Amino acid sequence: MPPNDRVAIVTGAAKGIGEAIATRFLEAGSAVAAFDIDSAALKAAVERFRQKGRVIAIEGDVAREEDVSAAVRRTADELGRIDVLVNNAGIEVPGRLPDYSSADWDRQIGVNLKGAFLFAKHVIPHLAGHGGAIVNISSVHAFVSYPGNAAYDASKAGMLALTRTLALDHGADGIRVNAICPGYIDTPMMDEWLATLEDPDAAMRQVLAVHPLGRIGKPRDIADAVLFLASESAAFISGAFLVVDGAMTTSGH
Ligand code: NAP
Repeated sequence: MPPNDRVAIVTGAAKGIGEAIATRFLEAGSAVAAFDIDSAALKAAVERFRQKGRVIAIEGDVAREEDVSAAVRRTADELGRIDVLVNNAGIEVPGRLPDYSSADWDRQIGVNLKGAFLFAKHVIPHLAGHGGAIVNISSVHAFVSYPGNAAYDASKAGMLALTRTLALDHGADGIRVNAICPGYIDTPMMDEWLATLEDPDAAMRQVLAVHPLGRIGKPRDIADAVLFLASESAAFISGAFLVVDGAMTTSGH
């Protein structure tokens, strides 16, 4: 099916990588359901999206099943079908054990991993009749660890396991499920991380030094990879993950 007949749900679409993904799908002619918890940012983003194509804004929390099931129903009702799900919404709740609380663990896993599970659970019945694609935004943290990030890393590694098993379980329905593992990408989430450091400029110099391409990623770099994995050009790619990190994780630094 050509991109301009398709309907995509993008979670965390109000900023950063999700905003770029929604924009990229609209530019390709798809209709987009933009889902986010930040109502002000979502409103502002949707004003920009409307100049590019057909979009509906849905406010909600990916970790709340009632929000997810209502969002999927609304998308099917208002946009007529669902072809693509991009599980992008994510948060980073850093901290080291033993001081990391159970509540922090539940929030971290609840948004990043349970959110992806809930959206897949409710979208798959809509894809089953005609096939479709799910793209999960994991992270290089799924296989490269940094101090004080156990719960985030576990959530992102869990997304890869979810990706593989959903690809196995639903391949016979023509549903492809893949993941993208971004490295450092210039988004509000990265700004928040830099703001927690004593010397953000020094940290940024260190980050750039481990990027063979000499730069960090832009949200559009991830959006282009998502569009590819969701397209017919990726018709035989399923259960896979694509690292998009400017070769950062090739280095032993
Ligand atoms: P971002 O700039 O923080 O944007 C994420 C958006 O998702 C925000 O609008 C956020 O709202 C929303 N969101 C958070 N929790 C939500 C929930 N429970 N339900 C619905 N929406 C929710 O993040 P980003 O950097 O674009 O990251 C997007 C994804 O890429 C995440 O899964 C992240 O883990 C992954 N990733 C990012 C990087 C990077 O370097 N930026 C690298 C690897 C992977 P609030 O701002 O109100 O929370």
